[in-house]
Amino acid sequence: DYDHVVEALLNTSVDLDSLEPDSVLEEKWIKEVVTRSGMKFKWAKLSEVRERPNRDVLRRPSADPSSLVPRPPVVTIMGHVDHGKTTLLDSLRKSQMVSTEAGGITQHIGAFLVQLPTGEKITFLDTPGHAAFSSMRARGADATDIVILVVAADDGVMNQTVESIEHARRAEVPMIVAVNKCDKPQADPQRVKRELLAHNVVCEEFGGDVQAIHISALKGDNLLALAEATVTLAEVLELKAEPGGVVEGLIIESRTDKGKGPVTTVIVQRGTLKRGCILVAGTTWAKVRFVFDENGRTVKEAGPSSAVEVVGWKELPPAGELILEVESEQRAREVVEWRTYEEQQRRLQEEQSVIELKQRVHLDEYRKERAELAHLSWRQRKSVLYQANKTKFSVRSSERTQSDQPSLPLILKGDVDGSVEALVTILDSYDAQEQCELKVVHFGIGDVSENDVNMADVFAGSIYGFNVGVSSSVRQLASKRGVPLRLHNIIYKLIDELKDELSSKLPPLV
Ligand code: GDP
Repeated sequence: DYDHVVEALLNTSVDLDSLEPDSVLEEKWIKEVVTRSGMKFKWAKLSEVRERPNRDVLRRPSADPSSLVPRPPVVTIMGHVDHGKTTLLDSLRKSQMVSTEAGGITQHIGAFLVQLPTGEKITFLDTPGHAAFSSMRARGADATDIVILVVAADDGVMNQTVESIEHARRAEVPMIVAVNKCDKPQADPQRVKRELLAHNVVCEEFGGDVQAIHISALKGDNLLALAEATVTLAEVLELKAEPGGVVEGLIIESRTDKGKGPVTTVIVQRGTLKRGCILVAGTTWAKVRFVFDENGRTVKEAGPSSAVEVVGWKELPPAGELILEVESEQRAREVVEWRTYEEQQRRLQEEQSVIELKQRVHLDEYRKERAELAHLSWRQRKSVLYQANKTKFSVRSSERTQSDQPSLPLILKGDVDGSVEALVTILDSYDAQEQCELKVVHFGIGDVSENDVNMADVFAGSIYGFNVGVSSSVRQLASKRGVPLRLHNIIYKLIDELKDELSSKLPPLV
């Protein structure tokens, strides 16, 4: 029955975005799950999500098909270095197709719009390099609908051509080939298309479905044909979006402008962006103060597939970040607070696992060392440890000179195995205190001995003892050599003193 199914869905780990109504999953169930769960975490178990309602905001589920309208394609140009990507973008920008205001200067905002004489539009991304493309992919967010693969007809398929093909394929983005530099006498477009076959890019004349257009980016030849091919492909792809509802989009560039402050270029993917919208991106938010196009003109509203500059961010969010509209400033603050908290938790967890790993390694070493030394006499053991630590330390001290980092060599004694292990474990967690490095040069069981004092002397270190004693002769030797003896019966006092000593080693603040 109804409740049963919803309950079952709530308790499964499902990707909410992948919940598409079909014969098995009825739409009303999904709607119910989405409402009940608060539509929060993409991969979170829905039952967990229920317990922390409304703390974050995620993309909305797929829209009702009847509310969708066609939208322009967003195109990325890729290809090998020097094959003419920049030149192509420049000529497209300068071409008749671009609606630049008379006398206006086109600014670089990371994207621009081309309009064909027939009225169709194309948004070109001109974010330099492919870093943005890859970083967005890595976040599972991608603005690109079509890749135009530029291949120079005088050079053919090269490394980065192949890389670009792989990028597009992995992102499942269809391609159009722009065979460039066809104005050159040595141009051989047929060769390019044959070479592409080897990489499973089958152009139309070989019976495939990849359009190849012969162009000269430099002379501006055939750019209209390239744009038309793009529009044709876009029609096949049936690109659609919902112009209403809350805004969703992607940041493709972000920078700090002297006058405007933090500025981002945003590709709107859903909804219509306007002045006054409240947006969340990563761990910051904006109340949109201005929306500009690539001509620096303010625009009233920006619908799906348009690229606009957004001003009004509290802090600069990075490129590749998703933007989502929320209903109020209060809600934006809440979401940002929650995300910041989650981010901190994640970092803490990471740090904790590193510390645990270090401790385990150190304890393993300690146990191994003990096992290896078990058959030796006490005297032999000490000399082995002494030699081992001396080499370890001499390597470290040369490192230290380079990094100029203060360090505290330490000799650790405890009454029983367990207490020494516990101390090593605790001290290891202080390893993270990168200002002053802690070097445990020797640890062992039993009273502080003459040898401990000698070792501390050699390494200019201190002796810390837990529940151990010291004979008067050893005490005298220590004071003669100036070796600090710090004996405790309470662990936290020992740790406190150690912390004080560590801080005393730090250079004075200037
Ligand atoms: P990118 O590294 O792919 O961005 O390549 P560029 O756009 O910087 O072009 C590299 C060189 O090829 C430049 O010297 C361009 O002038 C030249 N170039 C680009 N397109 C054409 C073209 O269609 N014909 C000719 N003859 N040269 C071109």
